[in-house]
Amino acid sequence: MVDVFEIIEPVYILAVLLFIYALRQMSNPATARAGILWAGAGMLLAILVTGLDPAISGNSGHLVVNLALMGFGIAIGGGIAFVAAKRVQMTDMPQMVAVYNGMGGGAAGAIAAVSLMMNGGWSTNNLSPLDIAAGLIGSISFAGSVIAFLKLQGWMRAKPITFPGQVPANLAVLGAAIVAGGLFVWNPSFLGSVPISLLAVFFALGLLYGLAMTLPIGGADMPVVISLYNALTGIAVGIDGFALNNYAMIVAGVIVGAAGSLLTILMARAMNRSISNVLFSAFGAHEEEGAVIHGSLKPIDLDDAAAMLAYAGTVIICPGYGMAVAQAQHKVKELTDVLEAKGVQVKFAIHPVAGRMPGHMNVLLAEANVPYDHLLDLDEINPEFASTDVAVVIGANDTVNPAARRVGSPLQGMPILNVDQARNVIVLKRGAGKGFAGVENDLFYKDNSRMLYGDAQETLTRLVQAVKKL
Ligand code: NDP
Repeated sequence: MVDVFEIIEPVYILAVLLFIYALRQMSNPATARAGILWAGAGMLLAILVTGLDPAISGNSGHLVVNLALMGFGIAIGGGIAFVAAKRVQMTDMPQMVAVYNGMGGGAAGAIAAVSLMMNGGWSTNNLSPLDIAAGLIGSISFAGSVIAFLKLQGWMRAKPITFPGQVPANLAVLGAAIVAGGLFVWNPSFLGSVPISLLAVFFALGLLYGLAMTLPIGGADMPVVISLYNALTGIAVGIDGFALNNYAMIVAGVIVGAAGSLLTILMARAMNRSISNVLFSAFGAHEEEGAVIHGSLKPIDLDDAAAMLAYAGTVIICPGYGMAVAQAQHKVKELTDVLEAKGVQVKFAIHPVAGRMPGHMNVLLAEANVPYDHLLDLDEINPEFASTDVAVVIGANDTVNPAARRVGSPLQGMPILNVDQARNVIVLKRGAGKGFAGVENDLFYKDNSRMLYGDAQETLTRLVQAVKKL
């Protein structure tokens, strides 16, 4: 008869292969949806087979009780996640990711806590330093993700919360957490006969550091930070995997840790900022002063905008965060269709950090069935602006702001879409609102720019009608 425990390792390997295949699928918008399903299948396999693990069944008749507990937890967690994911708005996706990241970090920290409580310090468990590392990283990721969620959800001041001496104070908390963890490894009873008291101090300090580290980071930098916490959660899970000798956890943790780290670096690079600048500079706390902009804001009425577009040869649409807020992607697709029906060539310029999360515009436009071959990234589209009749900016601001070329601007050095080089520019936005960086936009004042004020979805609805009539 086949020993049931013998199928655990092969199934873990199969799950790991599915994770790797899924990640590959996710690197292309056309296959990303299938990638999510493959990753889900891998996760399901891993969860099912975990129920057979001797650590769960204990070889002592606890299998049924433990499986029932697991099933109960999965039903509650999975049920809440299912309903939440069905109901979430696309604009609220970053905070949803923050919550799920935080849960992963919290789970990794909890596993480490249980292991430390059961097995004690170095004298009884020579893997306890790994548990301490996983516990610390998991706690930071959990607490930091909670703050990220609160800021993005608008339940807490999104602007950086700063005070003098903040960086040294935060480092002191981190140092104290490491010392508490080290003391526990050395002697779990250091704070008295109840080992849990030292462990409680250690986890409290880890959580406090996660909170403190995230407070000075502005709401719009949160996606970078969430991606960083995602990487930390992966690392914590991987370390837990080493401590538990669980291959699936090691590989899944390493994959998440590596993917999250790369994404963090790519996002920071696309904003021309270093990771330390994102984490420690309280970006967005102060507005730029003294910048002089020449020209004036020149409104355009709807019919003139419609005529300009309908009689253009080439149009480039530049979507940004405002398109996401207005949920205007379907109207953008309608505009594309009516213009193409009139023989206008329409392309989309996708800035890598347009919106508030990586791939934000791609996801929204894919949802509205805009063909992938219409979407061009910054390097591909930038040479085309100079020969384009009309660039339409829809709720984008920082990503099209020529101030990025100005020395001293907070945006200095950020790669931007060269919208200002187009023959004509139509800007759809509600009013005088600035972008996330809080910098006035030179583009809007240029001779070739016209402002079409209003909510992007409403404006586009009327614009489509006006173009159709021509
Ligand atoms: P911005 O945040 O710079 O600007 C958005 C503009 O949309 C505002 O000027 C606002 O003006 C307008 N707007 C808001 N609501 C509406 C609406 N309902 N209808 C029409 N317009 C609207 O957007 P970008 O996408 O250009 O730039 C993204 C910024 O976020 C960058 O600075 C980037 O670095 C940052 N960021 C992006 C991340 C990512 O991963 N994508 C991660 C972290 C940061 P008004 O109020 O007048 O309408």
